[in-house]
Amino acid sequence: MKEEKKPIPPKFNIYWIYGGIIIVLLGLSLFGGNDWQTVSKTNISNFEKYLNNGDVSEVIVIRNKSSVRVTLSAEALKKSEHQAVVATNFLGQENIRGPHYQFEVGSLELFEEKLEKARNNGIIFRLEFITVENRWLDTLIGFLPIIIIIGVWIFLMRRMSGGGAGGPGGQIFNIGKSKAKLFDKNTDVKVTFKDVAGLEGAKEEIQEIVDFLKNPQKYTILGGKIPKGALLVGAPGTGKTLLAKAVAGEAKVPFFSLSGSDFVEMFVGVGASRVRDLFKQAKDKSPSIIFIDEIDAIGRARGKSNITGSNDERENTLNQLLTEMDGFGTNTNVIVIAATNRADVLDKALMRAGRFDRQIYVDLPDLNERKEIFKVHLKPLKTIKSLDIDFLAKQTPGFSGADIANVCNESALIAARKDRKSVGKQDFLDAVDRIIGGLEKKNKIITPEEKETIAYHEAGHAIVSWLLEHAAPLVKVTIVPRGQSLGAAWYLPEERQIVRTEQMLDEMCAALGGRAAEKIIFNKISTGALSDLEKVTRQAKAMVSIYGLNDTLGNITFYDSSGQTDYNFSKPYSEETAQIIDKEISKIIEKQYSRAIKLLKNSKDKLKQLAERLLEKEVIFKDDLENILGKRTYKTNEEKIEEAKVLKEKK
Ligand code: ADP
Ligand code: ZN
Repeated sequence: MKEEKKPIPPKFNIYWIYGGIIIVLLGLSLFGGNDWQTVSKTNISNFEKYLNNGDVSEVIVIRNKSSVRVTLSAEALKKSEHQAVVATNFLGQENIRGPHYQFEVGSLELFEEKLEKARNNGIIFRLEFITVENRWLDTLIGFLPIIIIIGVWIFLMRRMSGGGAGGPGGQIFNIGKSKAKLFDKNTDVKVTFKDVAGLEGAKEEIQEIVDFLKNPQKYTILGGKIPKGALLVGAPGTGKTLLAKAVAGEAKVPFFSLSGSDFVEMFVGVGASRVRDLFKQAKDKSPSIIFIDEIDAIGRARGKSNITGSNDERENTLNQLLTEMDGFGTNTNVIVIAATNRADVLDKALMRAGRFDRQIYVDLPDLNERKEIFKVHLKPLKTIKSLDIDFLAKQTPGFSGADIANVCNESALIAARKDRKSVGKQDFLDAVDRIIGGLEKKNKIITPEEKETIAYHEAGHAIVSWLLEHAAPLVKVTIVPRGQSLGAAWYLPEERQIVRTEQMLDEMCAALGGRAAEKIIFNKISTGALSDLEKVTRQAKAMVSIYGLNDTLGNITFYDSSGQTDYNFSKPYSEETAQIIDKEISKIIEKQYSRAIKLLKNSKDKLKQLAERLLEKEVIFKDDLENILGKRTYKTNEEKIEEAKVLKEKK
């Protein structure tokens, strides 16, 4: 934003007063007394000459300054050698007041002796010893505290008032201003729907909003009301911000972007005031879009476990937001788009009609969408010609758009590190590994015994998951330490919308396969299975207490999607039920463990083969597994979908 600089007439300014005071002080000190009238300089030998000539009528010794002032007698002033003094001192003939000369002496004692001698020789003059206070310095020192206080005050005032509205935030007078970043024609939002890959459904819904902003009359003429808000719900990195930006880019309207936490400050009333300011700015620039990222920071359900009252400020902010959204009419053309990954904790009032009444779900991309996203982010990269995007998409299950962007960038960095001319398949695989597992730690010290344990553990996971119908098929097993983990088996998780009991159980069994293999081969179990156990326990607990998948407990859930209740202090079930839950959880886990043991015992030699292959190669892929175990009999979801497609086409 550029503002024209108009010549402003000089305004009354508080600094003028300070300036005036200082000048008066200086003037008083400088011209307040005779002491400061100009006196000609001379030196001690000249003085001795004058003294011996009898020219001197008065000598004033200033003790604290080791300086001496000399007044000449009236006769002496007529002498030619003193005419210069008469002239410079503007004394004129009749004004014979001194002092006329001044000089410094090294040692007052010696000087006094000289004067004594002259007296003894019969020379007559008045002698006086004085001490002068240095007025100027004294006043200055006297005023120093006040000057410092004034200085500090000026400094603070300047800091507080900041450099006008555009100044950086965090300043007292600006604190109620919104911190939104504005993107408009000048700061160009160049993002369009082309940059957003996949997300077809979401794009379609949001396309409507673009339309509202572009030609609102089309809708209002029929009496329809343009929606005021849309809520984008989805996991982090799925492109919510990107989508909102694309709306602004497509509709070519200003775009105010900020995060929910930007409203929150420790001062009371600031959040509400920022909301007001934000809406005011947006209205001034309408049609425009306000994008609030992570709205759950302010939009959480109100009045929940509010023991300390510390949430009042957040509530005020939320109330203000609701008021503003209600307040602007349908012709204001300001649309609020908010993003969250926890729609369930949001206050219901936000979702009411006339506020965020549209909810748009932004899911993690599926295989095809990942392909699309790869295409977008591969564009700026120099890749090898034969790069198989299909393969890349298959290797990145569960990745969000942001993860994929990250993989592409990382692969380019890896290729550059290896001095390659273009980015190849292996660079992408390395990038994926790195993003999932962290940096490889080739020189982590691992004893051969530990290595063997890890190999059997991972081989156990691999074999169990290979043999179970519903467990996710394996992609890769490694015993290269990486980040925190010593080894890892990677699966291609099925993209399922609902999970059945058998699927959960199979997954748990596969997760316990590592520990089961250790038990079978070494008859010992280790601490290496902590994260497996954690996962299994969480799943079993969810089965029993959330999804109602346990026969003993029946169709009951203790989950509260509204997040209204706080279970820190009280459990939603009785002590008796708690015991049943604990027992059932443990029963489920133990059953899957023995199942894994049984499976592995039956294919113990294959387990050994795989572990040995793993020890030798450190990394093995699906193909190695097929060599040892034969083709997997179960089809993956993706394969099933492919088959269904082929069948349809044949018809
Ligand atoms: P969110 O707001 O959902 O957390 P962002 O919109 O900030 O995620 O996405 C972060 C980055 O990830 C984007 O800048 C973009 O590079 C990439 N990205 C995410 N989703 C997509 C997508 N569908 N198409 C292309 N790029 C995407
Ligand atoms: Zn494990």
